Amino acid sequence: MTVHIVGSINLDIITSLERLPLPGETVLARAAARLPGGKGANQAVAAARMGAQARMIGAVGEGDAGRWMRDRLAAEGIDVSGIAVLEGRETGTAYIAVDARGENQIIVVSGANVLLSGVAPVSDGVLLSQLEVPVPALLPVFAQSKAVRILNTAPAVAGARCLFDHVDILVLNQPELALYTGGAGEGGAGENGTLERARSLLTRPEQAVVVTLGAEGALAVQRDRHVHVPAVPVVPVDTVGAGDCFCGSLAALLDEGYCLTEALPKANAAAALSTLGQGAAPSMPSRAAVEDLLS
Ligand code: ADP
Repeated sequence: MTVHIVGSINLDIITSLERLPLPGETVLARAAARLPGGKGANQAVAAARMGAQARMIGAVGEGDAGRWMRDRLAAEGIDVSGIAVLEGRETGTAYIAVDARGENQIIVVSGANVLLSGVAPVSDGVLLSQLEVPVPALLPVFAQSKAVRILNTAPAVAGARCLFDHVDILVLNQPELALYTGGAGEGGAGENGTLERARSLLTRPEQAVVVTLGAEGALAVQRDRHVHVPAVPVVPVDTVGAGDCFCGSLAALLDEGYCLTEALPKANAAAALSTLGQGAAPSMPSRAAVEDLLS
């Protein structure tokens, strides 16, 4: 079937600096690069490389940046016919500065992403979204789609809770779980605390909450059971985009017919592999690499 990704599309402009500028200061960058980005686009790439027929629904501006992003996604085999080109608007752009120690500063201009509207419900496969596009644009899609509906609640956004009732699987990391539940932060109250906080987000008996735990893997929680799937041990180079890889891969595997507990070890393996390369979208692994790692 199809993984329908409704989400953000950003051009990432990454500069490498010796050190980050102080307020009012100008520093010279050693190099600059443009990369495809935005949580929606990253997750679409992960789903496509996992083998899914992926369809991206989002918005870009007129001009070179939007065209470049559409071309990058199309080159991954992603159906880009659902990407609206908004007249007179900018494509979402993230300005990322990274210093010699790997510290970063990120400024995001949301551009066309926050103007996304009028998205039609989907009637097959998997629906996957994140929160870099407006909640009011997502609400009717989640409420009316006949698909497995996955919401990655990243970044944490006040007002997103109205979506939860229309979601089949919520995916979030520990800091996001803490923000949504008002509980302790990362490393807070241990697995029992995480379990209880995750369970408190369930609004229907058949729902699941998946908490990604970084190097500890992932915890899937339902009303009456839970399963902890350990991470695949790796020595990460860059964990940016690991959560996006996990979500896109999970969506692809569920679309292929795997149940949640079968899909989790593969999604963990894909996300672990994504930490071995620089950047988000470029480091998404192929399906073959994931199967190799698990064999
Ligand atoms: P986010 O990137 O959203 O902060 P996490 O840090 O929880 O999310 O990472 C998402 C997933 O990526 C984890 O569930 C795990 O599968 C994988 N992952 C992240 N960090 C590591 C790591 N150090 N070793 C192995 N897998 C990792």
